[in-house]
Amino acid sequence: MHVAIIGNGIAGITCARWLRKLDDGVRITVISDESNFFFSRTALMYVYMGHQRWEDLQPYEPFFWRKNRIDLRRGYVESIDPAAATLAFTGGESLHYDKLVLATGSRWNTFGWPGQDLRRVGGLVSIQDLEGLEEVTPEIKRAVVVGGGLIGIELAEMLHSRHIPVTLLVREGSYWSNTLPREESEMVSRHIVRHGIGLRHDTELAEIHGDDTRSATAITTTAGEKIACQYVGLTAGVRPSVDFLRDTPGLEIGKGILVDEYLRTSAPNVFAIGDCAEVRNPRPGRKAIEAVWYTGRMMGETAAYTILGRPVAYDPGIWFNSAKFIDIEYQVYGEVPAHGREGLATLYWEHPDGEKSVRINYEENGGAVRGFNLMGVRYRQEVCEKWIRGEAHIESVLQTLGLANFDPEFYAQYEADIVSLYNRQTGSNLQLKQKRGLDAVLRFLNFKTRAPRAISTPDVR
Ligand SMILES: Cc1cc2nc3c(=O)[nH]c(=O)nc-3n(C[C@H](O)[C@H](O)[C@H](O)COP(=O)(O)OP(=O)(O)OC[C@H]3O[C@@H](n4cnc5c(N)ncnc54)[C@H](O)[C@@H]3O)c2cc1C
Repeated sequence: MHVAIIGNGIAGITCARWLRKLDDGVRITVISDESNFFFSRTALMYVYMGHQRWEDLQPYEPFFWRKNRIDLRRGYVESIDPAAATLAFTGGESLHYDKLVLATGSRWNTFGWPGQDLRRVGGLVSIQDLEGLEEVTPEIKRAVVVGGGLIGIELAEMLHSRHIPVTLLVREGSYWSNTLPREESEMVSRHIVRHGIGLRHDTELAEIHGDDTRSATAITTTAGEKIACQYVGLTAGVRPSVDFLRDTPGLEIGKGILVDEYLRTSAPNVFAIGDCAEVRNPRPGRKAIEAVWYTGRMMGETAAYTILGRPVAYDPGIWFNSAKFIDIEYQVYGEVPAHGREGLATLYWEHPDGEKSVRINYEENGGAVRGFNLMGVRYRQEVCEKWIRGEAHIESVLQTLGLANFDPEFYAQYEADIVSLYNRQTGSNLQLKQKRGLDAVLRFLNFKTRAPRAISTPDVR
């Protein structure tokens, strides 16, 4: 069987790896127009900031592909023909497949802004975007970044690291407030300003102006303010990269490529995974398109089983994401809606420095823990997931909060603060049980630990 995979990102490569793990005989071809090798897209910013070299973004050594017999092919696929089971490359070549995986990722959004096609205007998704930015950087005296999401703050930080004054336009009243609860959103807004990045809330782009060379020179906001700049970053979200597939007979496309619970598209023997896939019936509380790294990885693994005739339904698990807002690490587990929900209580603790917080969401009735939102504090994923999956009671979670602590030495004092906050708010008298350390964590997670073999134990009492 020959499996062709369009896209060498986390989704496509995870699928290829699992295909090889599960079946020694399957032929695997991975196609990409972007790069010869798989790389960590989330770390693109560090290349621009000089923290990492391009080579460092490749998780696998070059021999990995040969060893696992994964053929990497550079090229752009212009169209697919599911009836003939072929795909056509730019330049006229074609390739036959038995099963096809579409893992084509995302592209940055544009909304028909006048001037959006000018030189020195760009997004940040691909290597080519990064190269384009690098090329024009010597010309940039001031930059404007449009869109306050994960990529917008990264692009602002990148430009700032090169001592370029940046203005970040955010449509909402505070940073990423359609995703982050108000307190965390305002914390990030403060953090951005503290770092010397010009932040404009409630501000939208109206137009980008250019000069005779068709290069950006300024923007105007919808409020009529003109800001001079030699670069405009467009980071108002991403959308599935599916334009080349729109006319494919039998392939249903909404915003993304529509898939069933087995990640099968409407076309025979064609699957879709990662950022480009739109799940027809997402689970309650989940989105149809989840353009994040971990979703791509989980979908890649799941699809491999089904492709090889061992159907596995896609289980998105407990929602998890992590990112970094300049210096503030962010993690979310489970249900943390931006605007809460009826019946969902929240315990929100914030450190006096205003740059660390822990939010625990739980059911008002019954106390079952539903979600964690962490800023500047890191909690163990397995522990939080076990609490959420097991519907642990808020009070038992609080009493053993140390189990989640990634670095008990460093974070020890916050657990006591969080418990006493809960006591003040609810009139309870909970005491922290000092369950900490790796042993306690492993026991909680039911890992079997072996006694060290080297020590023979005479009967020492
Ligand atoms: C700057 C940035 C920061 C991010 N930070 C985070 C983060 O902190 N946490 C997080 O969870 N997620 C983050 N993400 C999102 C995450 O990187 C993506 O969800 C993930 O990389 C998508 O993987 P994918 O395999 O679906 O697609 P991609 O990695 O986009 O791969 C798709 C590939 O397919 C190729 N392709 C598309 N069409 C064709 C065609 N017709 N022919 C040939 N090749 C084609 C594309 O060129 C691309 O190489 C970030 C994304 C960006 C851009």
